[in-house]
Parts: sequence; structure tokens; C-alpha cells
Amino acid sequence: MLRGAGSVVALTGAGISVPSGIPDFRTPQTGLWENVNPMEVAHIDAWRRDPQRFWAFYGHRFHVLEGKEPNGAHAALAELERCGVVDAVVTQNIDVLHRKAGTRRLIEVHGTIETSSCLACGARYPLADVRERLEADAAGVPRCDCARPLKPDVVLFGEMLPEAAIAEATRLAAFADVLLCVGSSLEVWPVAGLVDVTLDAGGAVAIVTQGPTPYDDVAAVKLTGDVVSELEAVLAATGAAGS
Ligand SMILES: [Zn+2]
Repeated sequence: MLRGAGSVVALTGAGISVPSGIPDFRTPQTGLWENVNPMEVAHIDAWRRDPQRFWAFYGHRFHVLEGKEPNGAHAALAELERCGVVDAVVTQNIDVLHRKAGTRRLIEVHGTIETSSCLACGARYPLADVRERLEADAAGVPRCDCARPLKPDVVLFGEMLPEAAIAEATRLAAFADVLLCVGSSLEVWPVAGLVDVTLDAGGAVAIVTQGPTPYDDVAAVKLTGDVVSELEAVLAATGAAGS
């Protein structure tokens, strides 16, 4: 399928980062945040109302993501792009692992932890700087030079999705001969909608995900094995590696 396709777009979700030691954000947390609903504490209203509590939670997320490295599945997608098989990666993940693996055309539809911004003055700070500010602040709230609390450039619950990223992802999905869905349950908008865009335009959908998705019946291929071994096998089968 991939060899015969003019355009292949990969669509990835939390499942691709699990082998890197990053738990799915929506699964129950451990330790301090065990009984906390992420949809409540990582909500834009929580950031506005109680930045101290919000940043206690987000600081914990930063800590979980710290030092995590891309795995073989991220590397296989980067290699498939390098060889001209995959055109772009659209991801729900905020963990920056696709970029670390070498993916060049990356559309992060839920934003990224790479930077945080001040909604008042528009200043933007890189992650390392935000962590320093977080640690230096008595209340644990990273603050802009203008003293207002920063917000991670991640789409929080209750926030709009980034319009430009969604538009680009939709364009890519419409032109894709194959939409290669990896590690996503395809239940959350916008990724579920992107599958429909590809199918409606006459493209095919291939799914590499453990567990069911609403699109299993219409997918041309469904692979349910370990995401790293499946994608490494796909890479080997295309004959793209090392070319
Ligand atoms: Zn500011």
C-alpha cells in the first residue's frame, strides 16, 4: 500500500509514545495526582482561576516527560519521511518526540510543551526557561517578565484547537492516498474527523493500534501488535531503510 501510494500521511496518538515510558495522559495518574481528573485540572478555566494548582499539575507532567527519548516507532516514521514514503506526521502528542526523532513536517494539533506563552503580552519562553521560572517562583508558577502566569503552548481542555494546524492537517488528509494511523484510538476530534476526510476523498486508511477503533471495519489494514515492532516491520517491508 505504502509503496504504491502517491501521498502517505501519518496520524499519531498517545500509543506511539507509551514505549518511551510516557503514559497516556487520559489514563489514571499515579502518586499525588491519582484521584485528580486531568480534564478538570488541565482545563483553561483552572489555569485562569488557580494557576498555582494548575502549575503543580503541569510541573508534574513536565517532570514525567523530562529526558524521555523517541522509540523505534518514532524513528521508523522519521526514516519513512526521509526516504520520501511519508509526507508528514500529524500528531495529537505534545511530547516533542517526533521532532527529536527527526520528523521534519510535523503538525501538532494539540500543541507542544516546547514553549509556554504569556497571554497578556505575547512573550514566549522555551521549556528550559519555563522550568527555571517555575522552580524560582515561591508559588511554583512560572511567570512572564511582565509578572503574569505563563500558559504552556498546549491545547488545554476547554480551549480551541489551533486553526492553522487543523487546516493543514485537513489538507494533508484530503490529499492522502493512505492515512497511516498509529497509536490512536481515533475517538477524539480532530483525528477522528481526519480519517473521514481521507475516506471521503477516496483515500485508504491503515491502522496500527492495540485496541479497537471506530474505523476498524473500514480500514484497509489493521495491525494490533507492538507499535515499535509493527512500524519497524513496515519500514523494512517498504525497502526504504538506508536507501
Ligand atoms: Zn507577559
